Amino acid sequence: VFASVVRAPEDPILGVTVAYNKDPSRVKLNLGVGAYRTEEGKPLVLNVVRKAEQLLVNDKSRVKEYLPIVGLADFNKLSAKLIFGADSPAIKENRVTTVQCLSGTGSLRVGAEFLARHYHQLTIYIPQPTWGNHPKVFTLAGLSVKTYRYYDPATRGLNFQGLLEDLGSAPSGAIVLLHACAHNPTGVDPTLEQWEQIRQLMRSKGLLPFFDSAYQGFASGSLDADAQSVRMFVADGGECLVAQSYAKNMGLYGERVGALSIVCKTEDVASRVESQLKLVIRPMYSSPPIHGASLVATILKDSNMYHEWTLELKAMADRIISMRQQLFDALSARGTPGDWSHIIKQIGMFTFTGLNSEQVAFMTKEYHVYMTSDGRISMAGLSTKTIPHLVDAIHAAVTR
Ligand code: PMP
Repeated sequence: VFASVVRAPEDPILGVTVAYNKDPSRVKLNLGVGAYRTEEGKPLVLNVVRKAEQLLVNDKSRVKEYLPIVGLADFNKLSAKLIFGADSPAIKENRVTTVQCLSGTGSLRVGAEFLARHYHQLTIYIPQPTWGNHPKVFTLAGLSVKTYRYYDPATRGLNFQGLLEDLGSAPSGAIVLLHACAHNPTGVDPTLEQWEQIRQLMRSKGLLPFFDSAYQGFASGSLDADAQSVRMFVADGGECLVAQSYAKNMGLYGERVGALSIVCKTEDVASRVESQLKLVIRPMYSSPPIHGASLVATILKDSNMYHEWTLELKAMADRIISMRQQLFDALSARGTPGDWSHIIKQIGMFTFTGLNSEQVAFMTKEYHVYMTSDGRISMAGLSTKTIPHLVDAIHAAVTR
């Protein structure tokens, strides 16, 4: 009965790793993967996560009962505190509802499903470009996706004028997807002054902010600094949605731990919103998994473990920042034509190199360097040892 099913294409991002795995070359380099790697190119489990795991294993009172539909209560409370700040008035006034979801993606999807059922404006504006899964998540949830200008290829920076024009002409009430920090794939973030202008424009037009926070702490190394955009919007008393992921900042990728928070105007509204979120979640997966959220809650609620986490997080962020500097220095030393300063200006896990799809195909074919065809490379996939090979590949691609 399934004989007529046609083969679907590989996911454009995950497909890079599939191709990399098939390549027998010894010099191959995977810069497509959106996961942290050590200097030795290995995945990293944080020490503090190992510790929390040990505590959970040793606690014989722990059982495997179902969590409530909204997930682990401690985890939800602590996640809201992490993104909004310990002194957030919205939290103090109980105007925030937070539900545990399946990492960042699941949080975006639950938020979108809620909006599709209960919000009056079904158009969501996403940046051009954005993470490849965004349009699919929102479309399948029933929203209609439009884009706003974001990246300027000429400056390899923000097209701030274009962004303001596009949001300025969006219909009143439209939803706007914002990357809280470390924009993926471009690594280009608005400055705080620009965020303030975006906030004023959006509030004056009644546009609804939906933040995707997949890299808190991973961009600058500071959890507070990376949450500033979100906190600015919460401080004005208006509504917003935030999807949080612990994939990168706690290295919990496969545990699928995340949270969706919806900031409302009053406690009563927040509790009604939560009751509807339950109706979204129950038929989708009933309730979220317990293990990853227990790890996060264990770490966030213990001040020593929390501190240890911030140090390990900073070390990951610092290694990425140092890779940017080393790559930039190596390209400069090599005399590779072009201005590569964007490599050290961009922020977060990725650099949007500006290499075009032909150059990318050439680098993959001739140098076994794997990356997405838009020229995005994962800085976390690089090391001091592999930078010279990448520089050879880039140099050959741009001087061909
Ligand atoms: N949003 C952005 C911008 C991302 O880069 C990612 C991960 N690549 C996600 C959301 C979702 O990741 P996850 O579902 O693994 O938390």
